[in-house]
Amino acid sequence: MYQNSARPGEKSPISVIGAGIAGAWQALLLAEAGRAVTLHERSDEAMTQSTSYWAGGMLAPHCEAEVSEPLIVRLGLRSLALWREHFPQTPFNGSLVVAHARDRADFERFARLTSGYQRLDAQGVGEIEPSLAGRFREGLFYPDEGHVEPRRVLPELHACIRAAGGAIEFGSNVAPEELDGTVIDCRGLAARGPGQELRGVKGEIILIETKEVELSRPVRLVHPRFPLYVISRGQGRFMLGATSIESEDRGISVRSALELLGAAYSVHPAFGEARIVEFGAGLRPAYPDNLPRISIHNDKIAVNGLYRHGFLLAPALAELTLSYLERGTIDNEVMQCA
Ligand SMILES: Cc1cc2nc3c(=O)[nH]c(=O)nc-3n(C[C@H](O)[C@H](O)[C@H](O)COP(=O)(O)OP(=O)(O)OC[C@H]3O[C@@H](n4cnc5c(N)ncnc54)[C@H](O)[C@@H]3O)c2cc1C
Repeated sequence: MYQNSARPGEKSPISVIGAGIAGAWQALLLAEAGRAVTLHERSDEAMTQSTSYWAGGMLAPHCEAEVSEPLIVRLGLRSLALWREHFPQTPFNGSLVVAHARDRADFERFARLTSGYQRLDAQGVGEIEPSLAGRFREGLFYPDEGHVEPRRVLPELHACIRAAGGAIEFGSNVAPEELDGTVIDCRGLAARGPGQELRGVKGEIILIETKEVELSRPVRLVHPRFPLYVISRGQGRFMLGATSIESEDRGISVRSALELLGAAYSVHPAFGEARIVEFGAGLRPAYPDNLPRISIHNDKIAVNGLYRHGFLLAPALAELTLSYLERGTIDNEVMQCA
C-alpha cells in the first residue's frame, strides 16, 4: 500500500510544517514518541497568520453531529480523551444549547440529530448558568464536552513540544519539497497548490467585554438563519462566533456584525452594553467533502482539511499519523496513499 522512505517503524528525523493546531499536535505526539522532530512555522509565536488563532476552541463532538458526518464524532470522541490525557487542566464542563421559544422546531431538530445530552428545564438552565436564569424555557446540556482558548493553548502546546525534546523554528517559511526525509505538511490553506481541492470557508468573530454576564461554558443559540455561540474568555471577555461563509475575503461584513451582535443581545440584553474589543475572521481549510484528510505520498504526508473542527480533531489525527509511521496502520476513512 505504501511505497516510501517514510518506512513505518523507522526512527528517522521528521519535519512538521505549520504550528497551528494540526501541526502542533503532530509534533507533540511525535516528540513524545521519541522522534527527532522539528516544527517549522512561518510566522512568529503570536501565530496571528494561522486559522487556529481565530477559532472558538470548542471540543464538542456531540453538538457538531448536527452538521457533521459520523467520522467527525468518531475522531472527536478520541480527541477528547487525548486532550484530557495531555492537558488535564482543560475545562470539560460541557456545552449548553438554548433557543428562543419561536425557534422550538429548530431546537428539537438539534436534539434529534445529536446525542450525549441531558434536557434541562428553565430552572435547570438557571442552575448551571445563573446569568441565563429566566431567559430560556429549556436547554440541552452536553456534560462531556470541553473547550480550550486557542490563543492560550497554542503556546502551551508549543512549550510541551519543546519539553518533550522537539524543536520549533518560528520565522521558517519552507515547502515540503525543500526538506529531506519525512515531512508532515500542516500548512492549512497555504498548502493549496495546483490540483489542490482546498478552499477557505470564512468564519467571523467578535470579542466583547462586559462584567454584567458570567458564563461557565460555551452556550450555543439555535437559530434558523444565524446560529451563534458565546464563549467566555475570562475577565469579562466573550467571543461571539461564528459565521460560515463560502468566501476567502477576510473582511467582516456589516451584515455579519449585525447578526452576531443581535443574536448575542437576544441571549442576554446586557451584551447590548458590552464594549467591542475585536472583530476578526479566519479561513477554515476545507476539502470539498468538508472532511479531514491524511494524504501519504512516499515520505511526504499532508494533514489538512480540518475545516470547522481543527481543535476537535487534531489530537486524533496526530495519533493516526504516529500509528502509521510506527506500525504502518492505515485508517481507510481518513488516509489516502499515493
Ligand atoms: C471563526 C472560527 C471558529 C472556529 N471554531 C472552532 C472550534 O470551536 N472548534 C474547532 O475544533 N475548530 C474551530 N475552528 C476551526 C479551526 O480553527 C481550524 O480547523 C484549524 O485552525 C485549522 O488548523 P490548521 O493547523 O490546519 O491550520 P492553521 O491554523 O492555519 O495553521 C497552519 C499554519 O501553517 C503555517 N504555514 C503556512 N505555510 C507555511 C510555510 N510555508 N512554512 C511554515 N509555516 C507555514 C501558517 O502560518 C499557520 O500557522 C474555527 C475556525 C474559525 C475560523
